Amino acid sequence: MCGIFGIEGSEDAAKLTYLGLYALQHRGQESAGIVSWDGLQLHLERGMGHVADIFKESVLRRLPGSRALGHTRYSTAGTSVLANAQPIVVKTSMGPLGLVHNGNLTNAVEIRRRLEREGSIFQTTSDTEVILHLMAREPRRDVVESFMLALEKVHGAYSLLLISDGALIAACDPNGFRPLALARVGDATCFASESCAFDLLEAEERRELDPGEVVVARGSGVESYRLQRTAEPTRCIFEHVYFARPDSKVFGDPVSQTRLAMGARLAREAPAAADIVVPVPDSGLFAAMGYSRESGLPLEFGLIRNHYVGRTFIEPKQSIRNFGVKVKLNPIRDLIAGKRVVLVDDSIVRGTTSRKIVRMVRDAGAAEVHVRISAPPTEWPCHYGIDTPTRDELIAAHHSVDEIRRYIEADSLAYLSLDGMLQAVSGPRESYCTACWTGDYREPISAEDKRQAELFPIRLSDAP
Ligand code: AMP
Repeated sequence: MCGIFGIEGSEDAAKLTYLGLYALQHRGQESAGIVSWDGLQLHLERGMGHVADIFKESVLRRLPGSRALGHTRYSTAGTSVLANAQPIVVKTSMGPLGLVHNGNLTNAVEIRRRLEREGSIFQTTSDTEVILHLMAREPRRDVVESFMLALEKVHGAYSLLLISDGALIAACDPNGFRPLALARVGDATCFASESCAFDLLEAEERRELDPGEVVVARGSGVESYRLQRTAEPTRCIFEHVYFARPDSKVFGDPVSQTRLAMGARLAREAPAAADIVVPVPDSGLFAAMGYSRESGLPLEFGLIRNHYVGRTFIEPKQSIRNFGVKVKLNPIRDLIAGKRVVLVDDSIVRGTTSRKIVRMVRDAGAAEVHVRISAPPTEWPCHYGIDTPTRDELIAAHHSVDEIRRYIEADSLAYLSLDGMLQAVSGPRESYCTACWTGDYREPISAEDKRQAELFPIRLSDAP
């Protein structure tokens, strides 16, 4: 996962990009970068860690110009090193280019192997770089044309922003897996992964890009194009379940409302004889609110999250992550002791964190712990940009709900049904990707890309 932001036509391009990335920090905490165009050249600043730590006033001063874009990274393809931090900037016969990507290509390894055999030298292990190689090999007078030609060849999930000497260009893959929206800030055009970035900048005239849409911003003008390759839309519903900020609107729905609806449906599908509802913060907050409203059980903030734990601190080593739960979460004994608790979270991936949280709540004196999950069991890895481990490591892939309940030591465990989850969003159900629950990968994954994903599994690094 990643957050991307770009702006065209503002004197404060880099500063506004910084603010946009700041609002999108939840989408990636490993590294961040901004590139700007000042009329003569591209300026690039990147670093490992959080946006606010990397972009001090002095660094922002080194990013002049009225066009800029930026990225916060959470690796899904390629390792967590500075070389893989984005934007990726290259020099081509069409001039300098800078690219940022949210998503995951499903034929990048295949293309890369072919290009390497033909002599290409790659600078990173990130899937994004193949797009720039494809462009460099088929230059056109108009960069937009070369970009669109390259996009016809790559498959999978991509929301992209490209900066050139003439324009800022945004593109969304034909499936529309990942969100990307545009808006106006005064005379400037800006693009962001989520609308919460627009709120911060008080941006207006907002709209989301359509699947397969390419938008070119030049000065104060905006043009829209379509990729030739079409597909049935498969919006990532996990954006609603977990990933997007609750104050964002994604794929036409306010995330707060969809999460409340998932929680309410969960209460109807899986009621519990209990005294209080406790959210696992922050991921379970809105679903727990929905559960509480629907069931009539009081909502209690029985777990407090320390927000000042730099995610970099617990990433990405397994050995360090194991004690991460205590660093991040602390129970309030006075709220929990003697109570039958409904503990609400959005997902169980490996089960290791959930097991520790259940134990923590029990140690704080809970009489019973009933775990409720606001999505179906996660059985399949995502190949479209959410970092999940391999199937082997997904507890629900090999265990029944009751086996998982025993493993996490809960008194009861229930998941929201697939239907219940899909009823919480407004689009037709076929327009969402549900692969992580159903294994229905509607956009094929090349054999080489699949093998690579199995050889180098992604480390789930954000477990609380
Ligand atoms: P675990 O019990 O170890 O499987 O961890 C479950 C926790 O991981 C839940 O609180 C989820 O909100 C969180 N989670 C789910 N998916 C992801 C993801 N892709 N990246 C980081 N955290 C996640």
